[in-house]
Amino acid sequence: MPYAPARHDAALPPVRVNLYSDTQTRPTRAMREAMLAAEVGDEQHGDDPTVHALCDRMAELLGKQAAMFLPSGTMCNEVAILTHCRPGDEILAHESAHIATSEGGAPWALAGAQVTGLRGPRGQFDAAALQAAIRPKTRYAPPQALVSVEQTANLGGGTVWPVEALQAVAELAHASGMATHMDGARLLNAAVAAGLPARDMAEGYDSVWLDFTKGLGAPLGAVLAGSHDFIDAAWRWKQRLGGALRQAGICAAGCLHALDHHVERLADDHANARLLARGLAQLPGIRLEAPQTNLVFFDTEGAGLEAAELAARLRQRGVQISVIGRYLGRACLHLDVGRADVETALAAMREALAA
Ligand SMILES: *Cc1c(COP(=O)(O)O)cnc(C)c1O
Repeated sequence: MPYAPARHDAALPPVRVNLYSDTQTRPTRAMREAMLAAEVGDEQHGDDPTVHALCDRMAELLGKQAAMFLPSGTMCNEVAILTHCRPGDEILAHESAHIATSEGGAPWALAGAQVTGLRGPRGQFDAAALQAAIRPKTRYAPPQALVSVEQTANLGGGTVWPVEALQAVAELAHASGMATHMDGARLLNAAVAAGLPARDMAEGYDSVWLDFTKGLGAPLGAVLAGSHDFIDAAWRWKQRLGGALRQAGICAAGCLHALDHHVERLADDHANARLLARGLAQLPGIRLEAPQTNLVFFDTEGAGLEAAELAARLRQRGVQISVIGRYLGRACLHLDVGRADVETALAAMREALAA
């Protein structure tokens, strides 16, 4: 299994509809122009005005005292975990959580902290499941330091945690002496879908971050927020990991542009996801649940076809999806996929299943 990504295969036709991930967006011309015009300085020294503007705006949006700019969402999770945890600590999160499944084991490798996976439908767990995992504090057991939730729950199907459930989990965590962290890679998708401010969803969470490279369409950047003390302590880890930057305002300007122009339109992605799901549900053997946001997970077992085979047939037809499990495929809607592209993808899907 090679670790480096495969290079583009010239034998394949060009990708016409890219549903592989909402990370596949290209910065728009207007976003590039905003980046070109950015005022910049040395971010490591606290001198980049555009990064300050973004962090102030994000602290406000997320309802926290302070924020920091980082290159990626993974670095936000890991900086937060390193700040909250000590080696030997235990983190409680859903068993499908990105921190447990998709960051190369970083909580273990970098923080020396283990993630214990909680169960629950669609990427979420409730206060009862959390309560069942909380042990008495003894000298024998690993200290339980942090509870982490994902809003939206990616491998749960892009589902939206209800605010009451988030708050019940946060209250129990705090009452049990644990800190709380929200992986908000797609928090604005959740906020737009639920019609609630992001800060209401993040209430009760000691740290929370948002990714600008998912449906928001920026080329890089994520912002981690928390109390003044938390962000102050997190700066040591940002520095240690090489996440302290120089003229990062170029990138922050793309993120500010996304906040101005790409948030409300997330509702279009959600509508396109429902359109795609309705079309998929009519195809023979394909099973799925109605999407809540921009991610559409579908089961191919009834069609007698592994997801990888379906993905390969679709790729031959210029449509890219991702393979999550043997019979589980995922299609992501985003900025660069319109209604007509959804129709194209559905037509390719029909052909691929009949082939
Ligand atoms: C994408 C993603 C991340 C990691 O973000 P990157 O910017 O790709 O490093 C973390 N958590 C969730 C839920 C994600 O979907």
